[in-house]
Amino acid sequence: MSYSIAIDGPAGAGKSTIAKRVAKELGFIYVDTGAMYRAMAVYFLDKGIDSKDEEGIARACGSVSVKIMYENGAQQVILNGENVTSRLRTEEVGRMASATAVYASVRTKLVELQRELAAGTDVIMDGRDIGTCVLPDATVKIYLTASVEARARRRYDELVQKGETPQLSVIKEDIEKRDYNDMHRDISPLRRAEDAHLVDSSDMDIDEVTATILDIFSSKIKN
Ligand code: C5P
Repeated sequence: MSYSIAIDGPAGAGKSTIAKRVAKELGFIYVDTGAMYRAMAVYFLDKGIDSKDEEGIARACGSVSVKIMYENGAQQVILNGENVTSRLRTEEVGRMASATAVYASVRTKLVELQRELAAGTDVIMDGRDIGTCVLPDATVKIYLTASVEARARRRYDELVQKGETPQLSVIKEDIEKRDYNDMHRDISPLRRAEDAHLVDSSDMDIDEVTATILDIFSSKIKN
């Protein structure tokens, strides 16, 4: 029998940092599903397809291949045979991913791939619809959130560390817009699954959140 941990929550809540840590502690595979939506977004941007062109996006979904590989434990996303992992984390790609994740053509394709990846393996997967749609029978479900202010501040500090000169108010606005999009779309909107544990990381550091999730998991498998 294999275990699965589903982590959902809004942008910037720290899902991927925490999921990577938990995966390492437990020896699970980590699947970052946001990276898959981002890879599709890279394809649409490269092809010049408008995010509002639902038909064009559906057609493009038929000819695009997204695959996942692991290099030294780190997830790599292969788009039509090319490793696009280094292109995924820009604001432009994030916005396009959120705008095109609303379409059934995009979601159906990626949900299928995500379920295949989780089958028969111990996995921790993060995203927006993992507990509600992709892995409804996950061993443990976590809804990881934080205040908009805390999430914007973290993103701001990250960009400053990279040598950029961001504006906190612009980042906050962007996060609020993304939250709104992700929570109000028709298909698989972001919401806490009824059986998900709520973890608010606003005043917690990475070690504390990791320990909280490991505790939830170990008490679940003991029972
Ligand atoms: O988590 P990340 O910021 O990389 O995700 C980018 C976008 O992809 C999200 O804003 C969301 O719209 C979409 N997404 C989704 N379902 C997932 C993961 C991501 O709709 N499971």
